[in-house]
Amino acid sequence: MTIYDLHCHSTASDGVLSPRDLVRRAKEHGVDVLSLTDHDELSGQAEAAEAASEFGLRLINGVEISVTWGNVTLHVVGLNVDPVDPVLLHGLARNRGGRRERARRIGDELAKIGIAGAFEGACALAENQDLISRTHFARFMIESGVSKNMKSVFKHFLVKGKPGYVSHEWASLENALTWIHAAGGVAVLAHPGRYQIGSEKMRLLLSEFKYLGGSGIEVVTGSHTAEQVPQYAALAVEFDLMASIGSDFHAPGEGGRELGRLTALPERCIPIWQAWN
Ligand code: AMP
Ligand code: MN
Ligand code: MN
Ligand code: MN
Repeated sequence: MTIYDLHCHSTASDGVLSPRDLVRRAKEHGVDVLSLTDHDELSGQAEAAEAASEFGLRLINGVEISVTWGNVTLHVVGLNVDPVDPVLLHGLARNRGGRRERARRIGDELAKIGIAGAFEGACALAENQDLISRTHFARFMIESGVSKNMKSVFKHFLVKGKPGYVSHEWASLENALTWIHAAGGVAVLAHPGRYQIGSEKMRLLLSEFKYLGGSGIEVVTGSHTAEQVPQYAALAVEFDLMASIGSDFHAPGEGGRELGRLTALPERCIPIWQAWN
């Protein structure tokens, strides 16, 4: 059986392993086909591709694009994208553009409740200074003893309604899909079970995503519970979308899913990789 893991992060975004170390770890965990999907960033792809040939696994060039849909932030994974496509690169650069200013504002919000130096602390933990994410703030807050782990940070801080949250306008869903398609890729809605929207709005999202040319949704992901897997498998079938699978691995021992440690897709799903082989 071929082991697929089509969603993970390196130091090019908010992961802690370099692309090379990530690919090596994926191989050690039995992954046969890996996609590195850094947030709004393709700069890790070349190193990952080199490592994939060195360690002997197949790399699918990927990216995870931040999207604003109404008042909801969504993540859309692009798979099999050309990592040097100018339309995609330009769009991603635009999406990254506001991140530093946003990070400053997050730092200011945290300072207001007595957490000092968070902006500088987050930057010091990020390799890519164009890509300061909430994960870097979370790591800083754990290191400085504010919170005990990731789960606790994202329960009490950095999310809507809690200190350290700053609203931000990302790419539109239409633009994200246009960029992915321009680069020859397929679009996959990441971890649908994580969005705090009701089932009616989820259906609206899936029909709009399909209408815009979206190809699939993540059914098996580190973000889904065992109960959510069959629910999203059913939605994939209903909306004629293929199914993807990804750990969303960021760092060893940080509480997220390990590379390659995923259950198989439910039988009735059409795997996103069906057309690749
Ligand atoms: P950003 O793109 O800066 O908004 O940061 C989003 C990142 O924060 C996600 O990709 C995750 O790595 C992390 N994140 C968000 N919510 C959670 C959560 N509940 N638990 C752990 N990590 C989270
Ligand atoms: Mn992340
Ligand atoms: Mn995500
Ligand atoms: Mn991710």
